[in-house]
Amino acid sequence: MFIVALTGGIGSGKSEASNAFANLDVPIVDLDAISHQLTAENQPLTHKIIAAFGQKYASKEGVLHREKMRKLIFDNPSARSQLNAILHPAIHEEATRQIRTHSDAPYLILAIPLLDQDSPYISTINRILVLDCDENTQINRVKQRNNLSEDEIKRIIQAQTPRQVRLSMADDVITNDGNIEKLHLKIEDLHQKYIKTCIVSKTIS
Ligand code: ADP
Repeated sequence: MFIVALTGGIGSGKSEASNAFANLDVPIVDLDAISHQLTAENQPLTHKIIAAFGQKYASKEGVLHREKMRKLIFDNPSARSQLNAILHPAIHEEATRQIRTHSDAPYLILAIPLLDQDSPYISTINRILVLDCDENTQINRVKQRNNLSEDEIKRIIQAQTPRQVRLSMADDVITNDGNIEKLHLKIEDLHQKYIKTCIVSKTIS
């Protein structure tokens, strides 16, 4: 299976890019979406997280209080590690299961919001595609999308993989500084390239 990791900072356009690939019939395995599904109401993992952190992190029975949880892990690295230790193996298992279901596709997109060299996905992926734009553009987009202040957005950006680290890992970079239509055109070009690349890699493997 030829796997392209799609990553980028908050507001860089990962979701838009995933939608564009999906419109081209490319399967998408999205770690963020998996994390949301696994922590939805009354999921086993949701109960496990509430049991580990206490009822005050539930908004009602079986429902995770995401806002409180987000605040806790932002300010508390040991809580973050504890949550990751519960979440990451389950996400990895589900992502692996989903990847296997797409074994007939020429290639798939694995959307990974936070990718660095220590990621357990590094050994699985064939190429890294980074969505990139400058910080002001990120801030303006996220301000419009979510109801967050500039300071909150800057703190999120600082907690993510640094832009230069991301770019240094990239095989392909899409500079998402134009309009949505331009982004879609860039993705159509890359799609053609990936189709050719994975045919070559299948031929020689
Ligand atoms: P991410 O998933 O990386 O956080 P999104 O794809 O959700 O980013 O993009 C953030 C916001 O910016 C969304 O509302 C999206 O529609 C918008 N957006 C993304 N790319 C562009 C673009 N090229 N032009 C205008 N708006 C964009």
